[in-house]
Amino acid sequence: PDSGRRLPRWLKRNIPKGDPGHKTTNLMKELGLETVCEEAKCPNRMECYSQQTATFMILGAICTRACSFCSVSRGAPQELSDDEPERLAEAAYRLGLKHVVITSVTRDDLPDGGADHYFRCIEAVRERTGASIEVLTPDFIDSKEALARVLEAKPEVFNHNTETVPRLYRRVRGPKSVYSWTLELLKRVKEIAPETKTKSGLMLGLGETREELLDTLADLRDADVDFLTLGQYLQPDQKRYLPVVRYLRPEEFDELGHQAKSMGFLKVASGPFVRSSYHARDMAESF
Ligand code: SF4
Ligand code: SF4
Repeated sequence: PDSGRRLPRWLKRNIPKGDPGHKTTNLMKELGLETVCEEAKCPNRMECYSQQTATFMILGAICTRACSFCSVSRGAPQELSDDEPERLAEAAYRLGLKHVVITSVTRDDLPDGGADHYFRCIEAVRERTGASIEVLTPDFIDSKEALARVLEAKPEVFNHNTETVPRLYRRVRGPKSVYSWTLELLKRVKEIAPETKTKSGLMLGLGETREELLDTLADLRDADVDFLTLGQYLQPDQKRYLPVVRYLRPEEFDELGHQAKSMGFLKVASGPFVRSSYHARDMAESF
């Protein structure tokens, strides 16, 4: 694995001078909200904050799963906060957001996985801001009704990440996440709400082969997924998380992006720093 080595040159970023994230960070603190940008230590924070974009994380900051790539905290889940939808709407309004991404930890402890809370958050943000909404949800594995409840609020984009190829699923996503359910969930979104755009993403460099990756993309197309994101997996820290097996070169990401487009995805973002919410507004607005 490459994890002990220094980052290749294309993964070194120029950090902009000043602190463009200050406004967003302060507002989040004031309103008691979490962003996945901070929790997941996303490498695009400076860029996104300076464009006043952020991905909100609802349902608390503690996850009931333990994916081996993710730095979100695990443990005893927190109580749902009844006024979170309003606080979220207020933040989106004050940041002047036109496209709001809402994601969450996985709440296997809740009977509906938090679906009703998603519904309320979408409604509140839309009402206050008129923004288009993208949700990046957990798999709601224990509840088929949960998905329908989220879709009742008519998010413009429904994103659920595949993260990796089926052979590595258990290792990367832990025992509770199942590849076939990911596909089933995305397929079902189209059945219930055909007007909603579906989206999924994978992290590359975890040891997947090219063939495995292309098979997975074909599965996503079979599930009628519209938008795709492909990015480099980066290890949050060396002790606790899966090592990087390979750093793909930017040209390889470009080539994979073209290949994915030719398979029928409407929109593809493929690059070392691409994350599922990176440039989400551009992706959503072109349709
Ligand atoms: Fe936040 Fe997404 Fe931007 Fe990362 S790419 S900083 S998670 S909005
Ligand atoms: Fe992180 Fe999501 Fe996995 Fe929870 S389910 S550990 S938030 S990637």
